[in-house]
Parts: sequence; C-alpha cells; structure tokens
Amino acid sequence: MTEIIKIDSKNYANSINKCAETIKAGGTVVFPTETVYGLGADAFNPDACKKIFVAKNRPADNPLIVHISNMDMLHSVAYIDEDLRDKMKNIWPSPLTLLLKKKDTVPDIVSAGLDTVCIRFPDNQIALDLISASGPIAAPSANISTRPSIVDSETAIRELDGRVDAIIDAGRVKYGVESTIIDCTVKPYRLLRAGAFTLEDIESMIGPVYVDPLARGYNQSSVALTPGLKYRHYAPSKKMFLIENEDEFIKFISSGDARDFLILCSEKNSHYASGETLVLGDDIYEVAHNLFYDFRILDKSGKKYGVIQSFPESGIGFAVMNRIRKASFLIIKDKENIDKIYKVLNEA
Ligand code: AMP
Ligand code: MG
Repeated sequence: MTEIIKIDSKNYANSINKCAETIKAGGTVVFPTETVYGLGADAFNPDACKKIFVAKNRPADNPLIVHISNMDMLHSVAYIDEDLRDKMKNIWPSPLTLLLKKKDTVPDIVSAGLDTVCIRFPDNQIALDLISASGPIAAPSANISTRPSIVDSETAIRELDGRVDAIIDAGRVKYGVESTIIDCTVKPYRLLRAGAFTLEDIESMIGPVYVDPLARGYNQSSVALTPGLKYRHYAPSKKMFLIENEDEFIKFISSGDARDFLILCSEKNSHYASGETLVLGDDIYEVAHNLFYDFRILDKSGKKYGVIQSFPESGIGFAVMNRIRKASFLIIKDKENIDKIYKVLNEA
C-alpha cells in the first residue's frame, strides 16, 4: 500500500515526520526536489536501498545519489578537500551534484560497488526538511527506468502507486531537468551529466571543468562516462524526431507531412504549425520546466509521433538539448538529412 501525502501548511510538520519515519523504518518515499521527483530510502540501509532498484526496475550497476541537508551529513558519507568544501558552503543548496571519494559508511549497493559517491544538497524545502528529519537519503530520479523523469505529483502517483511506501504530493517541481553532476576526484573537474546548474556558473564559482563532447547528448555510447548514461534515457514511448535546423523545422511543421505528429516547439514557432502543438515556451527555463511534462503528454496523445525543435545551448539550454537529443529517436542535423524522417515513416 502506498500512502499519498498531500503537503499543505496545516499538516506540514506531521507529514514530513511521517515520511521521515517511513525512511528510518527502511521504507521508500517519493519526494519533490527543485529538479525532478526523487525515490528515496535510508542511505545507510542496504535492504532499504535495494527496494529503490526493485521499484524502478533499475539496473544494479547504476548508482544512486546521496542527498544531504547540511555539511555534517556530507562528512559522514564522503571525503572533500577544504577548498572545495568552502566553495560549496556558498553554492549549496543548489542542483549541483559532486562525485567524491566515498566513506565506508556508504553501502556498496548505493555506489554500485565503486569507491566514489554522488552527493547532492537539494534546494527544496520539503526535501531539506525530510532529510534533516531522517538523515541522508539515497535517491535516483523517481521514474521507472528509461522513462522520462517525473516533474509533477500526478505522474508520480500514476507511475509509482503500489511500488513505494509513500508519495509526497507537492505539485510541479521548479526546474524540470535533473541536477548537474561533476566528478571532483580528478583535476580539472569533469562534467558527468549536464543539468539544472549551468556550466557558466560552475566555471565562475568553482573553476574550469572539462566537458566531453558526448555531454551534448549526441551519442548513446556503451562506454559512457557515468554508469547511468549508458542506458537509454528520458525518452517518450512514441518516436520523437528532432529537427535541429530551424528553417527545416518550420518547413516540416507547416506542411501536411506533420499530420501524424504532435509538434513540440516555442510559442514563436507554434504560429507556423499546421497541426496539434504543445508550446514548450520561448524562455529556456520555461522550456526546461515543460520538457518532461510534455513528453508524457505526447505519449498520451492520439498522435503517432512527436517532432521537436532545437533551442540555444547556453545556460540551462545545454542540459535541455542534452535531454532532447537523448530522448529523440532520430536527430536531423541538417537539411540533407530530412529524408531520413520519410524513410522511417515509410518503413512503419
Ligand atoms: P538519477 O538521479 O536517476 O539520474 O541517477 C543518478 C545519476 O548519478 C546516474 O546518472 C548515475 O550514474 C550517477 N552516479 C551516481 N553515483 C555515481 C558514481 N559513483 N560514479 C559515477 N556516476 C554516479
Ligand atoms: Mg534518472
């Protein structure tokens, strides 16, 4: 039985305590963060963490992120050098996750047997209050493996009711894309996953960070940098096509060929659309906020396919484009390749 816990001001403290008790008793709780919903368990309890992998159908070699709500908790799970620790005091809470050398207190199941652990200090009051009441929480994104991350409580309930002990119903999250992960065990630090914390902010607040070309999301490589990246991610069940060239995108969505497609685009481009459209937004934060939400609408829609445009890659746009590329069945980079769409349609 899953308990759905609606958060309101009247019963706030009770609700948080109840969820913390569930965590401490070895149960699983779906909770909001500023990025996406997480599926958490006591980070020090291997049996509890095992339930996360079962509930999500997550491969055992894909490690979890340990969530903390103060610096003492950090020292109980990982090693960090003083210089970085001092910087993080001014940066956390925020959607920046650090890969650090782990302490022996962290069970193998959390780190998938590695000697490192990902640490996150989320900027969401519910998450912080829950962690403060329960202790460090190990959590990946709450979605079933390979599905888009969950950004609203309705989807959390639909996908996880019956699979976890409790779900905190707290509406839509703030950002809509996952945290940024950097590997701090190497110098220069290295980007492992693009996310809500921008590269520009990392460079100005922490220092240079190495960004692998794969971070733009083009290649589903089996030799990915971080274990999680080797699995297919973020994709709607329907085939989605990304047309990166804006002129070609507009040409396609204004033609009759878009008949079987749900069109995902900016407000500006929606005026060219000949058919059913989901407006992601013009502001890139708005696009991030709507992206996974709209992937789920695509899956529920009566359309056979989705077609999506590209967005500028600065700021959070870097993570947005990484997710769009990874979620796309086919990426049309230039005019010459547009025929590939028709080839797929003809084969269907
Ligand atoms: P999720 O929150 O569902 O996106 O999953 C956590 C992400 O953190 C995955 O992409 C993992 O591969 C990554 N991660 C967690 N721990 C480690 C680790 N020790 N080394 C490398 N990546 C990690
Ligand atoms: Mg995930």
